[in-house]
Amino acid sequence: MDKSSNGARMTRSAPTCEVALPRPVYQTFTYILPEEIHRRARPGMRLRVPFGKREAIGCIDTVSEGEPSGRVRSALELLDPEPILSPELLDICRWVARYYVAPLGLVFRAALPPGLLAESADESDGGGLVRKVLRLSQHLPTLEERERVFGRAIRQREAFEALEELGGASTLVELEGQGFSRSVLGGLVKRGVADLSEERVERDPFRGLEPSAEPRHQPTPEQAHVIEHLTGMLGESAPGSALLRGVTGSGKTLVYVRLIERALESGRGAILLVPEISLTPQTVQRFRAAFGDAVAVLHSGLSAGERLDAWQSLRDGRKRIAIGARSAVFAPIHDLGVIILDEEHEGSYKQSETPRYHARAVAAVRCQREAALCLLGSATPSLESWSNAQSGRYTLLELPKRVTDHPLPHVQLVDIRGGESPRSNGGSGTRAPGGPALSGPLREAIEGRLEKGEQCIVLLNRRGFATFVQCENCGKVWSCEHCNVSLTYHRRQQTIICHHCGFRERPPVHCDECETRISYSGIGTEQVEQRLGDAFPAARIARMDLDTTATKWSHFRILERMRQREVDILLGTQMIAKGLDFPEVTLVGVINADVGLNLPDFRASERTFQLLSQVAGRAGRGAEPGEVIVQTSRPGHFALRAAVEHDYMGFAGRELDDRLEPGYPPHRRLANVVVSGRSETRVTDLAGLLADWTRGLIRSRSLDGVDVVGPAPCPIDRLRGRWRWHFLLKSDGPRRLGSVLRYLAVHHGQPSGDLRIEIDRDPESLL
Ligand code: ADP
Ligand code: ZN
Repeated sequence: MDKSSNGARMTRSAPTCEVALPRPVYQTFTYILPEEIHRRARPGMRLRVPFGKREAIGCIDTVSEGEPSGRVRSALELLDPEPILSPELLDICRWVARYYVAPLGLVFRAALPPGLLAESADESDGGGLVRKVLRLSQHLPTLEERERVFGRAIRQREAFEALEELGGASTLVELEGQGFSRSVLGGLVKRGVADLSEERVERDPFRGLEPSAEPRHQPTPEQAHVIEHLTGMLGESAPGSALLRGVTGSGKTLVYVRLIERALESGRGAILLVPEISLTPQTVQRFRAAFGDAVAVLHSGLSAGERLDAWQSLRDGRKRIAIGARSAVFAPIHDLGVIILDEEHEGSYKQSETPRYHARAVAAVRCQREAALCLLGSATPSLESWSNAQSGRYTLLELPKRVTDHPLPHVQLVDIRGGESPRSNGGSGTRAPGGPALSGPLREAIEGRLEKGEQCIVLLNRRGFATFVQCENCGKVWSCEHCNVSLTYHRRQQTIICHHCGFRERPPVHCDECETRISYSGIGTEQVEQRLGDAFPAARIARMDLDTTATKWSHFRILERMRQREVDILLGTQMIAKGLDFPEVTLVGVINADVGLNLPDFRASERTFQLLSQVAGRAGRGAEPGEVIVQTSRPGHFALRAAVEHDYMGFAGRELDDRLEPGYPPHRRLANVVVSGRSETRVTDLAGLLADWTRGLIRSRSLDGVDVVGPAPCPIDRLRGRWRWHFLLKSDGPRRLGSVLRYLAVHHGQPSGDLRIEIDRDPESLL
């Protein structure tokens, strides 16, 4: 018995509750409920409790009259007059915790707006912080004047241009993150080209925007048929799931809008999930045009206070439609009619940290429990959804043609193997092995578009200037100190950077081992931008990748410039492939389709096919037909051939066959168990031990049908200073796999020291 610390005591038949704390532990914690708390306490309310020597805020899972056993302390304060999690949401959170083998408190935290389950008070941000913002002045030096203004202050000029690229304003923190020092940034203010100010919360551009005056189209007969079918499902007592496979430009958005209208008419609410909200301003705008104030946009770009407002407006029923990325699947909507996942195949629907839930799976389960309809839309459905549609578990609906009746764009593969000899680049020694950045056909095609005043999109799914920094003589490759990956050269910032942990250093001048000169190879978007600029000096080029979209609304600004036709060539990573609808884009160029194809991951072909189909779908959406040019050194690869033919079914058939023998999804269920830590031997030992233990468990508990593969080093076997080994579990069905994972978590979930175990059920990637 403990009498020492705050309120700890043993009591007979005192009411208690189980509290889930937002911590990486699998159990809930028992607390005694003092009389005045007990009277009001219900599951789903937040509770302040003592925890160790500190306090914590958790969420009540269950309340019981039972007798506490052992040392139990008293809860301190009830924080909510009403549960913040409804019984339905509690229920779905418990399902997520159980299925993904994740701590319930972390699931609650993921389901709630940020700050509500903060570990400590200072983590929550009441309504936006004050930020120091650097903003370009009204009168900017022209290109010629820049020489004079900046003179030899090269870094200041670079900072100036970085700021320009970021849309003219950025926070100091973010610019510093790009490698510019305070004194360099201060120099811009001294020269009078920029001003420093303190700003509270940045404006949400969605809010200020007049909903664009979209004409209210009449559905085509194909759309009308799909809408009718879905409306029928909406009225059923167990609507189930439907997959809408509609080619790019087939008008899926209008189907979503009409379906939500039907739900609202019958008094029910709706959730629309999009892969990444800042990349899909057009989709959001269409919904705002259709539904105005009934829409709440849940957006990570909002401050914590703004998000809380949006969330509360849904919970109160003032708004009935939630739009957001994956976490919006937990939006507090009563009487839910439908959840729609646009681009359902997107990997970003899977959370890459605990709880590692997939919004598609959560949506399906939530809909089932709340008798709502789950609609998945895509031009290139995931193989999981496709096989569910094939087997009849999902209703399959199709929109095989574009609304405009134009054909899908013509796609041409250009073989870049040993094409042109590597071109030297302004004396910097940069070259592009594996082919030129711009092949003859692509260059001519862009030229033709520029002459006609049409827009182009150019994709390369790799940022930076060059992805390999290597000694020409001894072959040494510069790699990260903390990760087993090579460093990428970023020319503007004059650094080499690890894209996994952010480690950065100055690029080498010559090899420190054999003093030979350095070569840079493997082209990235920064270099493509330069090549395009060299080839088409008059063209207005905008680059959109992680480096140019560091600030909150920078995506939005770049896309807005594109829409206003202030940009001729939009260049970028996969960010530019999604849901954009620019009718003047008639050409899409892919610099190198092999980038994703060569990844050591079982979804490499699927991802490549999807990306190519998506980006190709940006071309020819208006009156003029579209053309797509894909550069590759693997022109015979079936995923590329299928993309050329717009042959989804052909691709899916072949890929499903290929996955049969190794037992990859959707044929079998997968879980990836990753062991990591700072000592390589301890990681290897523990991975071996756990894999053996799991095999033994499967035998002794007769959990047949679950196989253990491995252990082996992860494809990236060192990340942020931690060694990583993994083993895979493959299972014929979900149930037994779940049992094995839960045993594993309970018995070995918290290893000692700095060792860690991560369980990733239904992984999107095995890297
Ligand atoms: P998807 O999402 O399937 O790629 P969108 O929903 O973006 O396609 O629609 C493609 C284009 O067709 C948009 O510009 C949209 O405004 C237009 N559109 C959709 N439905 C109709 C219709 N019934 N009549 C005329 N235009 C339509
Ligand atoms: Zn690193």
